[in-house]
Amino acid sequence: MNIKTKIRNNCFSLPKGVNWCPVDTALRTLKESLHTLCEPMKISTLASEGYTLSQSINAEVSNPSFSNSAVDGYGFSGSTTEGLNEFSLISETAFAGAPFIGRVPQFHAIEIMTGASLPTGVDTVVLNEDVTLDNRKLTFSGKLKTGSNVRLAGEDVLRGDLLFDKGHRLRPQDLALLIATGVKNVEVYEPLRVGVLSTGNEVLEPSSSTKDDLDEAMIFDSNRPMLRSLINKWGCDVINVGLEIDDIGKIRQKLNMAAENCDVLLTTGGASAGRADYLSKLIKEEGTLFEWRIAVKPGRPLAMGVWKGMPVFGLPGNPVAAYVCTLIFFYPAMCSMSGSGWQEPQAFLVPANFQKTKLPGRREFLRARLNEKSEAEVFRSEGSGRISGLSWSTGLVELPDKALEINKGDNVKYIPYSSFGI
Ligand code: AMP
Ligand code: MG
Repeated sequence: MNIKTKIRNNCFSLPKGVNWCPVDTALRTLKESLHTLCEPMKISTLASEGYTLSQSINAEVSNPSFSNSAVDGYGFSGSTTEGLNEFSLISETAFAGAPFIGRVPQFHAIEIMTGASLPTGVDTVVLNEDVTLDNRKLTFSGKLKTGSNVRLAGEDVLRGDLLFDKGHRLRPQDLALLIATGVKNVEVYEPLRVGVLSTGNEVLEPSSSTKDDLDEAMIFDSNRPMLRSLINKWGCDVINVGLEIDDIGKIRQKLNMAAENCDVLLTTGGASAGRADYLSKLIKEEGTLFEWRIAVKPGRPLAMGVWKGMPVFGLPGNPVAAYVCTLIFFYPAMCSMSGSGWQEPQAFLVPANFQKTKLPGRREFLRARLNEKSEAEVFRSEGSGRISGLSWSTGLVELPDKALEINKGDNVKYIPYSSFGI
């Protein structure tokens, strides 16, 4: 089955008459328009961390696959000795990986190590430190419930149990579960190929320029390394489309190149309606642009469109706005295109450690971090060129579209960056 269908050119279109698009509307449109763009493939479980499952997975063996001791101690049959706490010790020992093959007779106990298979005749283990040994006579005080300190075969997972649904992105601990339950290979989606393009006459390629090149007019391209790292973290393949000057022909070439090699493209700069903003102009004239003047701060302009079947997220050039828009708009879209479905970032209500009067009209995302009392502090400036605030912060405070008076102690919505997998 070929699931790699092209994105419809009008998939981002907005209802007539909407000029400033509310964040929720933009997100809903993205959610409804996008779908998985990646093909399935089979890989070794050992190399599967960060990939998204294209099929659900069931256990091939139970965990544990055999009943064994949960502690270092002495094993006996509790079920046939009714609360007895005195046993004769047999001379053998059951080790992990070297089980005792034989039967432990009734009223007898065997020394057993953590992880050792339970010998026939053993269903209960008493802890090393709880026993007294006197000339092969083992005693302990009180009664021990039958089955104590034992891990029964399949008590965690039974062979055939569902381990993960399709769409789950595998984490390190998931590899442990897959390996423990005998799953050698998994069906996953190929990584989404995300192109990254920077535009702007003032922007310098950081790998081939130095601080001496920064005369009064130039800046380093700080967006592309940031976006490339984010995309890498999200398990996508980064396609470096490069850096381009504000030239319509050259940007067209880059878009064409990207459409050949990428599933989706992230650009920064030139997305607005200024005279040097060729990205939005090009997509509007030759692709399909829905220049969403999204009611978001920081963020507008954010041009979303389609170029030759490839979705394009035309992010603002300001690094803070580029970062925030990538998290808020691209992250859930990327999850959807990668096969894990639309993902809403997990948010927490925490008391504000700041005061702010918010105007109506735009959803606002403030760079924030939690203090030692788990209250949200916000960065001293809301300027979207203040890159240092991104490094200072550990998450975002999201303020609703409406006007709001926030006082210290009021609950605000805090979204840690970890909710975006970073
Ligand atoms: P633009 O969206 O092209 O109008 O750019 C908005 C602001 O972001 C301008 O101050 C640009 O110089 C700056 N900017 C654009 N691209 C980058 C980039 N790749 N890295 C850092 N800043 C940028
Ligand atoms: Mg520009």
